[in-house]
Amino acid sequence: MPKSLASALRITILYAVFAALWIVFSDKALELLIHDVNFMTQAQTLKGWLFVVVTAALLFVLVSNAFRTIEALNQMDSLTGLARHFTFQQILDQRLHLRAEDQQVVLMYLDIVGFSKLNHSLGFDGADKILTSFAQRLKTHYSASVLMGRLGPDQFAIAQVVTKGEEHVDSAINQFRQLFDTNARANHLEIDCAMGVAIEPNDGRTAKLLMSSANSALTKAKLENSGIQFFNQELSKQETERQLLLQDLRLALKNEHLSLVYQPQYDLRSNNLTGVEVLIRWRHPRLGFIPPDQFIELAEENNLCDKISAFVLKRAQQELGGFGLLDGVIPRVSINISAVEFNSTLLMEKLMVQINKAEELAPLLQIEITETAALDDITKSVSVIKRLKQKGIRFSVDDFGTGYTSLVILRDLPIDEVKIDRSFIHYITRDKKSHAIVQAIITMTQGFDMTVVAEGVETDEQRAMLAQLGCNEAQGYLLAMPMEVHQLAEHFSLVG
Ligand code: C2E
Ligand code: CA
Ligand code: CA
Repeated sequence: MPKSLASALRITILYAVFAALWIVFSDKALELLIHDVNFMTQAQTLKGWLFVVVTAALLFVLVSNAFRTIEALNQMDSLTGLARHFTFQQILDQRLHLRAEDQQVVLMYLDIVGFSKLNHSLGFDGADKILTSFAQRLKTHYSASVLMGRLGPDQFAIAQVVTKGEEHVDSAINQFRQLFDTNARANHLEIDCAMGVAIEPNDGRTAKLLMSSANSALTKAKLENSGIQFFNQELSKQETERQLLLQDLRLALKNEHLSLVYQPQYDLRSNNLTGVEVLIRWRHPRLGFIPPDQFIELAEENNLCDKISAFVLKRAQQELGGFGLLDGVIPRVSINISAVEFNSTLLMEKLMVQINKAEELAPLLQIEITETAALDDITKSVSVIKRLKQKGIRFSVDDFGTGYTSLVILRDLPIDEVKIDRSFIHYITRDKKSHAIVQAIITMTQGFDMTVVAEGVETDEQRAMLAQLGCNEAQGYLLAMPMEVHQLAEHFSLVG
């Protein structure tokens, strides 16, 4: 039996049962309660009215529910005649059931970029005309098998069943996009659109899930200004994990649940300790040790670099000061700052405030910047470095040799130290070119009166070769591992 007929039958039976029960029991109740004949007539009339009121209320509830469902099902957008959200979802569900084994459904959301501006410049009527002409173009172009919708003021959707295969998906997307461009041109407008694409079954097997996937893809496309964005479950899982990690990092920074290790650096001729490099550590309660490379990048993307540096400065002062290592024991303390920080005037101001707070540490401080950081805007870099150098802070260029314009750095930046990247040191004894590069760097930097430090020294051969080439200092696992402050204090009392 059709669903509608079954519902009608159910309502009728309900009504019949109610009416019959009413007739039988209401009369009986009156007979039991009332014995006066005159009063009985009045009570009968009242009972009749009560029946009318109750059944009318019942009828109202049932009919209004039915109408609401019908209305929702028939909801088409009055301006464009395209399906609205609810209808779109209902029809999409049907289409998903009907597609053949070798087919897939491509759901595309399209949003007009800067539609509110269009409303301003063309007026509401003018903007409406753009929407209706686009809808008309869609209706003329697509056959009835393609589902078309207007899901928001400036948001259109197309669900198209295509044969499986990337080329069919691409062609469906291109068609939709081209229709948008043609319509814009026809209306003499230079407008752009963002698109989010979800593909069944991978991005969702029901209309609701698929629509939610297309919507997230569209949101991403709008946020990133990327034109077209595909929903990708793997990516969205990674993104969720990243967001969780970010939350944890924020919390770890707030509660100071990060720690520091210190790696000593030595003079290659005298073997004296020349300084330490401060390296940050994060032991995540669930995921264990997370390498700084990973979470520094996360911090850079989310404006947390200043907090990292503030933590490093504060903790290094506490720890090194606490073990009495700042009173003439350690000649120099190097900290790393990120490229994002170095290239922002505001963040460098904030860094300066933190440095000033770490009074004991400040006079020993050296800042390591990567070569790429210094190259964003060389004149600005020069002035930033000069300003900090006036306060007695030294500068070192980290990972030297890995950027493209190392020579410009040497020529133009007022730096004190160069750290040869560990990739060159790694091959120095085995590869002639690496050897030649290291030799050239050493010769040049010394010509500029800068200290040159070799990073990542792991073998005696490397160390011997560096000493022979005249490299000033070295740092690496061979000489000392990065260590906690109490180990560092022991190390100093033994070696220093
Ligand atoms: P980096 O500045 O080049 O730091 C040196 C890295 O080399 C450290 O890794 C250190 O543990 C490692 N290393 C030291 N000796 C050797 C060796 O002999 N062989 C090899 N293969 N590696 C050696 P770590 O601690 O994992 O740091 C990685 C990077 O994370 C650092 O590279 C730095 O760019 C960044 N970083 C670390 N701490 C901080 C920080 O406090 N702030 C900022 N902004 N970045 C940091
Ligand atoms: Ca470094
Ligand atoms: Ca380095």
